[in-house]
Amino acid sequence: MRRWNGWGDDKVEFHLAPTARRMLEERIGAATPRAEVDLETMVSRVPASRLPEHLLVDRSPATRLRHAVGQSFPDWVHIRYGSLARFPDGVAVPNDEAELATLLAYAAEVEALVIPYGGGTSVVGHLTTPVGPRPVLMIATTRLNTLTDLDERNFLATFGAGVTGPDLEAALRAQGFTLGHYPQSFEYSTLGGWVAARSSGQQSLGYGRIEDMFAGGRMHTPMGLFEMNTLPASAAGPDLRQMVLGSEGRMGVISQATVRVRRLPEAERFHAVFFPDWTAAESAVRELSQAGIPLSMMRLSNAVETQTNLALAGKERLISGLKQYLELRKVNVADQGCMLMLGFTGQRAIVKAGRRKALDICRRYRGVHMYRMLGEAWRKNRFRTPYARNELWRLGYGADTLETCVHWGVVGEAMTQIETALRDALADEGEAVHVFTHLSHFYSSGCSIYTTYLFRLPHDGETAMARWKKLKQAASDQIVKFGGTISHQHGVGEDHRPYLVHEKTPLGVELIRKNCAFFDPSGMMNPGKLV
Ligand SMILES: Cc1cc2nc3c(=O)[nH]c(=O)nc-3n(C[C@H](O)[C@H](O)[C@H](O)COP(=O)(O)OP(=O)(O)OC[C@H]3O[C@@H](n4cnc5c(N)ncnc54)[C@H](O)[C@@H]3O)c2cc1C
Repeated sequence: MRRWNGWGDDKVEFHLAPTARRMLEERIGAATPRAEVDLETMVSRVPASRLPEHLLVDRSPATRLRHAVGQSFPDWVHIRYGSLARFPDGVAVPNDEAELATLLAYAAEVEALVIPYGGGTSVVGHLTTPVGPRPVLMIATTRLNTLTDLDERNFLATFGAGVTGPDLEAALRAQGFTLGHYPQSFEYSTLGGWVAARSSGQQSLGYGRIEDMFAGGRMHTPMGLFEMNTLPASAAGPDLRQMVLGSEGRMGVISQATVRVRRLPEAERFHAVFFPDWTAAESAVRELSQAGIPLSMMRLSNAVETQTNLALAGKERLISGLKQYLELRKVNVADQGCMLMLGFTGQRAIVKAGRRKALDICRRYRGVHMYRMLGEAWRKNRFRTPYARNELWRLGYGADTLETCVHWGVVGEAMTQIETALRDALADEGEAVHVFTHLSHFYSSGCSIYTTYLFRLPHDGETAMARWKKLKQAASDQIVKFGGTISHQHGVGEDHRPYLVHEKTPLGVELIRKNCAFFDPSGMMNPGKLV
């Protein structure tokens, strides 16, 4: 069963290796496990529903609690420390589009607000129940989850928007196709959520972002059904799909999406390469991303992330052997060494040629190729890392991530300044922060920067929130200073909303607001998010 107050399946545990625990204790100090509120207590705190009875609406406290939060740090604070005070008044899980339309009409009639709920994996406060007099209805797309059409001639697949990553890939794979969209939240996030939050998967370098995959679909709005056709291209005015991508539930509920699929690749290989320092590694990935090599994935960890990953791996004897081997090849992973993970996907001959060319480039920057063992380990664990957050919290450590995208000229400096801001943000409380970064989505003109930060959890939720706000603000200010986007892949929600104007300009924000208001004149759709 899915955890009600954490990440993932409650039967899956992530045991923190003793090496990783020692590393945290050395860098930020020993932590104290914090008391947590249990499920029964939380359920007992859910107030009476303000929604009138409806056959399709579940008003039970337990269901409302399970849909009250996403996966953001504030969500975790509220649900674990027990300060959660906002709950939807009801949850509806329509079986088909007719029921979905009925629910929107019901919500309009009773003047309820509506929050579309996909997989509930938002990390930026997309799903927070607004405060105010209007009742709140969550519409979960869980049951709109089937493959309704696979058009093999045009490589187009149409799914209900609530389909999750594993179900979507299983349906396509059974017929020899794949979408290739693998966000780390793959297990639970949905196609509709990917479109609504402009998601990007781990293999975006080869398969593209969700906006490259989303060919069209259907969105139920308070103004009626909006259909987006799936033509391969059009010069007939602005592309209206781009407006729906990233709409974050503000315009309506996406019920169906058609995506551009591909034949299953003949071959897929992941390889690790270690570089002696960041300067060499960053130059190598820039050249790799501009060389036209058919890579499907790159992930370059900086020195601290490399050390952290190796510590997390446990397996002390194996890692010690690896370190000795790398030292002989003049890469010191206890100091400046950086790990790059490379993915090659496609026809066997192209994978082979691409790998040869990529490894040639890496060698020119003194990269040491580790063959496939670490690459295979990465593939095996690619969706497991989020489970570490449960264990870290249990031990008394909070963890959060942030991400941006900048041009090549400022990648290194922006990363350093974001990290420094985070590392210093709690100095006034005498608290250290463990910070590390990787670059993971690459374009010819720049790349994303993805930073993780860990800090000790205080005794009470209020202080935890205050710490997180300081950290978030410090890092976001640096992102703005370097002209980066406030989100490369997680979206805006509530947490990034104050920073949106720096990227979009005041006129741009007004345009987004007007677009939302066109579909939703009464302001019933997920207010307070995005703009
Ligand atoms: C551990 C973890 C790892 C993650 N890794 C990645 C990653 O690698 N890449 C990435 O892009 N993101 C990642 N995310 C963020 C998150 O998974 C994405 O934002 C994802 O797209 C959200 O999908 P969801 O179905 O869970 O949507 P939800 O969280 O349920 O909703 C997100 C937003 O979309 C709206 N929405 C959802 N479904 C619909 C619909 N059918 N119609 C209209 N609006 C809708 C909601 O109202 C809300 O505003 C990660 C999150 C976690 C917790």
